[in-house]
Amino acid sequence: MITFSSLSLREELTQAISDLGFETPTPIQQKVIPQLLSDPIDIIGLAQTGTGKTAAYGLPLLHHVDIAVKHVQCLVLSPTRELCMQIQEEMSKYGANMRGLRITAVYGGMPIAAQIRELRSNPQVVVATPGRLIDLLERKAISLADVEYVVLDEADEMLNMGFREDIDLILKNTPAREHTWLFSATMSNEVRGIAKRFMKDWKEFSVATANTTNENIDHQYYVAQHSNRFETLRRLLDFTPGIYGIIFTRTRQDCQDISEKLMKQGYHVSPLHGDMDQKMRTKVMERFKSKQLQCIVATDVAARGIDVNDITHVINYELPDDPEVYTHRSGRTARAGKSGICMSIVSPKQISNVRQIERLVKQKFHKSDIPDGAEVVRKRLFFYMEQIALAQPKADFAKLYRDSIHEQFADVDKDELIRKLIWLQLKDTIDIYQDSEDLNAGYDNKEKGGSRGNRSARLFINLGEKDGLTTQKLLQFITESADINANVIERVTVRDLSSFFNVPGDMAEQVMEQLAAKKFKGRKVRLEEAEQSKGGSSSGGGGGDYRGGSRPKPSSGPRYSGDVRAYGKRAGAGSGGGGYKGKRK
Ligand code: AMP
Repeated sequence: MITFSSLSLREELTQAISDLGFETPTPIQQKVIPQLLSDPIDIIGLAQTGTGKTAAYGLPLLHHVDIAVKHVQCLVLSPTRELCMQIQEEMSKYGANMRGLRITAVYGGMPIAAQIRELRSNPQVVVATPGRLIDLLERKAISLADVEYVVLDEADEMLNMGFREDIDLILKNTPAREHTWLFSATMSNEVRGIAKRFMKDWKEFSVATANTTNENIDHQYYVAQHSNRFETLRRLLDFTPGIYGIIFTRTRQDCQDISEKLMKQGYHVSPLHGDMDQKMRTKVMERFKSKQLQCIVATDVAARGIDVNDITHVINYELPDDPEVYTHRSGRTARAGKSGICMSIVSPKQISNVRQIERLVKQKFHKSDIPDGAEVVRKRLFFYMEQIALAQPKADFAKLYRDSIHEQFADVDKDELIRKLIWLQLKDTIDIYQDSEDLNAGYDNKEKGGSRGNRSARLFINLGEKDGLTTQKLLQFITESADINANVIERVTVRDLSSFFNVPGDMAEQVMEQLAAKKFKGRKVRLEEAEQSKGGSSSGGGGGDYRGGSRPKPSSGPRYSGDVRAYGKRAGAGSGGGGYKGKRK
């Protein structure tokens, strides 16, 4: 296997990569870097954001650049201001040990005078949006006369955004250009057109076909009536306390309305859409990147170029019309080798759209149940307990207040104290979910996984997230252990300690028998048939997490109303010590 050290990059780059913690080159890097180092011919790289494409061209660019020469040698064109900034940031990290290297980014939406001043510092590498670059060329603030390397990043996006003429003009103004590297997620005729006009015998490198399938994404969908969409969103957010995500809406108005409603209810979110000026958008991105925001609510256009690696969830408030847009949205998660979840809220009528997208992304979507109130409360209780277990109070904090704390609680029993603390944390949620309704829109018989004579059976299994399971891993375990095809397994719900799934009724016994004979990571597997509520839309036989003993009956009200009476501010969902804190770099 190719390693970074075997690539014979210049020492400063190898060192920087190692400092960044990159261990192995990503597939596109493995293909492109050796070629561009040994023979930097013209190339087309078909790769989406998140595949490591910036390093795939950035490292060879920096390898070839002559730091001693103080004029623009490398030009990277990119469609958006956000992407420009990210490329500059990323390449600056790679070039951190190259003394004298200057990388300048120029893009619209910011005062041009400051950028003109920056260009006077003689950068060797310029990253630009086409529009702003032309503006600078017209003002004679930049010369492309000595540019040898040109990279067209996200060429398809640039063309979609109407930059074709600008790109033509820029490329015509690079007389010394010897190497043109084009990167694009898709290979359209227009992209090929640019290659034909401006590139010599190029080689193509592709990490997958267009519409890359990212196996690390768990695609889930939740069926709710249109009128319950917002409630469903809220419930999914509450059920995912450590979320760090993007909620996609179709329109700017929805984007604004939904984020306002969520903010009013105490969620740490912000809108991001085209009606906001550049300054506001930058501010939102800064708050999101520094994790002051738990989610951003975005339109597709505004979300373009958001480059954040550790997004845990993408939520489609509504499915996009165009299945390809779905791929772009879901691709915001599960980046750089991580895994992620893409949740879509769909109305019963939109299930056919789900099927269409399934075909496009070549992955099965998992129908999941919208959790009921009790499950939300339980999930947040477990989350909170974990937060307490993981908390590392400052050493001097205890010292400073120890006496007062002891004095105050000297007579309070430990159990009582825990109850009180958890009450404070969970009280709001318990109030909210006291009489919460079932939001799952009814399934028709077909969706239940069987014809009239073969109703599906809901099975409980004693394995959950704590065992390292995800929906996909559970499906894999089931299909590898029992004679059943993943296509007939429905409504997989993975909980902390246990999970539920549906199989056609006539297969239930056999599946239970075959699985019960297996062990998972050394643990004995136990299965039971779960009760299904009327209408088949309950969230999984009570959704209880239990390791042993008898199966709890499905509950309708909050299960913790007696013991853990309530819980703290909802803001705890993402703020304060929110669960994603640990994931922070
Ligand atoms: P890109 O596709 O260029 O937007 O890269 C996505 C992210 O992956 C960037 O934040 C990079 O820092 C990161 N990355 C790129 N190459 C590697 C690698 N070989 N190993 C780990 N992370 C990487």
